Amino acid sequence: MADKRDYYEVLGVERNATAEEIKKAYRKLAVKFHPDKNPGDHTAEDKFKELGEAYEALSDADKRAAYDRYGHSAFSGGMGGGGGGGFHDAADIFSQVFGGAFGGGFEEFFGGGGSRRKGSGKQRGSDLRYDLEISLEEAARGVEKELEIERYVPCEPCGAKGTKGTGGVKVCQSCGGRGVVARQAGIFIQQSTCPECRGAGETISDPCTTCKGDGRVQRDSRIKLRIPAGVDTGTRLRSTGNGDAGVRGGAAGDLYVFLHVKDHDVFERDGSDLFCEVPLPFSVAALGGELKVPSLDGQSSIKIPLGTQGGTVFRLREKGIPSLSGGRRGDLNVRVQVEVPTKLNSDQQQKLRAFSESIGEQNSPMQEGFFQKAKRFFDL
Ligand SMILES: [Zn+2]
Ligand SMILES: [Zn+2]
Repeated sequence: MADKRDYYEVLGVERNATAEEIKKAYRKLAVKFHPDKNPGDHTAEDKFKELGEAYEALSDADKRAAYDRYGHSAFSGGMGGGGGGGFHDAADIFSQVFGGAFGGGFEEFFGGGGSRRKGSGKQRGSDLRYDLEISLEEAARGVEKELEIERYVPCEPCGAKGTKGTGGVKVCQSCGGRGVVARQAGIFIQQSTCPECRGAGETISDPCTTCKGDGRVQRDSRIKLRIPAGVDTGTRLRSTGNGDAGVRGGAAGDLYVFLHVKDHDVFERDGSDLFCEVPLPFSVAALGGELKVPSLDGQSSIKIPLGTQGGTVFRLREKGIPSLSGGRRGDLNVRVQVEVPTKLNSDQQQKLRAFSESIGEQNSPMQEGFFQKAKRFFDL
């Protein structure tokens, strides 16, 4: 008793916290430390007990007043003044706050995503994953795809009910329709899937011959998917309700499509920017002119200024990939590679030699700078 933590501290609330704040704090922490969520974790179990006790004391106005006045000693001889055997079971407190251990609130927290038991035999279908490869052009423009996937769909002959006729469905006797059976384990109630109905909460005496009572069958199905412009490798799209159909009319799961954008022959992508290299004839590099370059919108052209060096990057604004979030479109960065002709006839070679002699060394800006820096290597 001596080293008991302060109840306000346990719940993480101020001493003047309202009843609502206390309840909120309890709900949040009790879910976090619930033994069903932390199997085998004794620290969590102790915390859960501690929370139940703190909540019980502080949620009751009389008990709270007694605690504020006398601290833990207010309850050392039974429940402060009111009498009657100490604190309630932590699991009972939890059930009380959440409205029943197996119903309502409980599943809001623990059921998410998995197969949800509703006690009517219905179970939510599984979420499915589909990996889809698309081209860079498709990623940039957006595209509509038809996916073919094998998944559970509702059984038509029985209307997803799982029975041949009416009246074939009976509430499971073992679990009373809850789909789970509870067992007392220490101060906690442990629940496990009902072995009789395998969690459905119902037994079927005349199962549908097509689906054998499942209310769903596996089929190839086609699903249309709209892919927005701007997606990238790693983008995940959710197609709501296009996962597996649920058991006996339960809600369908979702389909998650993971996108992979294929490498492109010409463009490299970095976020919403595109990069490419384009050869530039050396005469155009020297004299200036126009250079046609590829872009996702077809062809573009850039103006090459007189005396352009190889490696120069020209940026074409907003010719990259659109932004998925609706922001500014990326740029296209074109890096030019000056191309030296490889097949010169003797006449052309002569002209080039004459050109070389006429230009001498005084018109090579990069060479000048380089020799300045590298002088000592050439013993000049
Ligand atoms: Zn059962
Ligand atoms: Zn059926």
